[in-house]
Amino acid sequence: GEDEQPSRKKARTTVAEPFGARVVVDLGFDDKMTDKEIVSLTAQLAYTYSANRKASQPFSSLLFTSCNGRTRERLERQSNAAYQRWINTEWWDGGYEELWGDATSASASTSKQKCEKEKVVYLTADADEELSELKEDEVYIIGGICDHNRYKNLCQDKARKQNIRSARLPIGKYLAEMTTRKVLTVNQVLEILLEWVATKDWREALYSVVPKRK
Ligand code: SAH
Repeated sequence: GEDEQPSRKKARTTVAEPFGARVVVDLGFDDKMTDKEIVSLTAQLAYTYSANRKASQPFSSLLFTSCNGRTRERLERQSNAAYQRWINTEWWDGGYEELWGDATSASASTSKQKCEKEKVVYLTADADEELSELKEDEVYIIGGICDHNRYKNLCQDKARKQNIRSARLPIGKYLAEMTTRKVLTVNQVLEILLEWVATKDWREALYSVVPKRK
């Protein structure tokens, strides 16, 4: 229209429908991190949120589970508790097990959207299965932890104990110069998933996020 102000911000030309898959960030690792690592993690969570907000085809919402301890306290103090105003995010005190938990569980609120346990995939570099594609009816869990590689198999063991699927990004297959067990940060993983949604091409998605080695 003629009264439109020229905007310095780049207009979002493509507003696609959100991609149907759910993404969960499991914040159940407060006891495994130093204070500095908690600070790093909460910065990563802000990048994660921002990447989803800016994506041409975002995930419809991000669910943060087990948000009940030191990570939550840090988020409360970060940018005037900005996380409370992040749109299209959900924050649960309880664990992601409530996704498939039976309705008799005392804490299960009816507003929480359930899913079948078979549709849940824990993403971890330590999984045997290599992720081949994202499916709109599946739920992908990212471990909300910054541990500088101290805890190998932490998320893998958690998934195995709960009998849920686990899968790693197909890094070895597409980034030949990189080791297969490449551990990324929470926001890098979400950025790769978003790039895959946009391009359906793992090589492109991985290269756009993981800096190339010189
Ligand atoms: N020791 C932790 C690593 C934390 S890295 C562990 O046991 O997983 C933060 C999270 O990013 C991981 O929990 C995982 O969900 C995700 N992630 C990192 N690298 C990945 C990879 N190569 N494939 C799949 N998920 C990965």
